[in-house]
Amino acid sequence: MQLSASGELGLLRELESRGLIVGVEHDAAQIGPDLVVTQDALVEGVHFRFDWISWRELGFRAAAVNLSDLAASGATPEALLVTLAAPASSLTADVIALYEGIGEAGVPVVGGDTTSAAEVVISVTALGRSDRVPGRAGAQPGDVLVVTGQLGAAGAAFRAGAYARPPLRIDEGRALARHAHALLDISDGLVVDAGHIARRSGVRVEIELDGVPLAPGATIDDLGFGEDFELLAAVAEPADLPAIGRVVAGEGVVIRRGGELYELAGWEHFRR
Ligand SMILES: [Mg+2]
Repeated sequence: MQLSASGELGLLRELESRGLIVGVEHDAAQIGPDLVVTQDALVEGVHFRFDWISWRELGFRAAAVNLSDLAASGATPEALLVTLAAPASSLTADVIALYEGIGEAGVPVVGGDTTSAAEVVISVTALGRSDRVPGRAGAQPGDVLVVTGQLGAAGAAFRAGAYARPPLRIDEGRALARHAHALLDISDGLVVDAGHIARRSGVRVEIELDGVPLAPGATIDDLGFGEDFELLAAVAEPADLPAIGRVVAGEGVVIRRGGELYELAGWEHFRR
């Protein structure tokens, strides 16, 4: 079977069922009592193109998508490791701008690697510390589903030939991690990510689209695009965060708009 047929989630399930990877239900790996580590790569032509993004913005994005997974783990970031693969013809000034963009995230780069490649690949490893990682498996019937900000900006930007600058939700993640039953960042699309909570927790997640705060210029269908990097949490009390749905007994994700069932697409790597 080719990766295009299994899809990213199918591949992970296959590896997990063979015991070759463990703990993938979390946004980041937990090592020891409080160390949290995550890694994400951005590949030219797959995750970005240079006529849509500057080197500096690419650097910030590479850092931010990893810090988003730390935020989803309730972690305080401590350090980044950066591996850059780039064509030998790349300009030094561009690479400096890339690292300046990484620096905008405010977390020190303490190591990594550089190597040559036909196209630019930037892989960031982010390390942080968290007293409590809620994970995705603890959502309970009766919980409320909340988000930390507006959704759809990434999809709207993509339609316009650009990338939205990811938010950094470190403080929000630390606050939510103290009490959330489940917590993750929205990277694959609202339905897919809500589905992670439903599957891992053994519950049904019901989302009411009318309650979802939309970014300027975004439409409901931009919610399926993902890459908004806001946090999605199942909590007993919504506090002051927008409530977009609830957790009930059952399985799967149910999307409603104006009370009617609604079909919302989701992103999955290798399949698009
Ligand atoms: Mg994540």
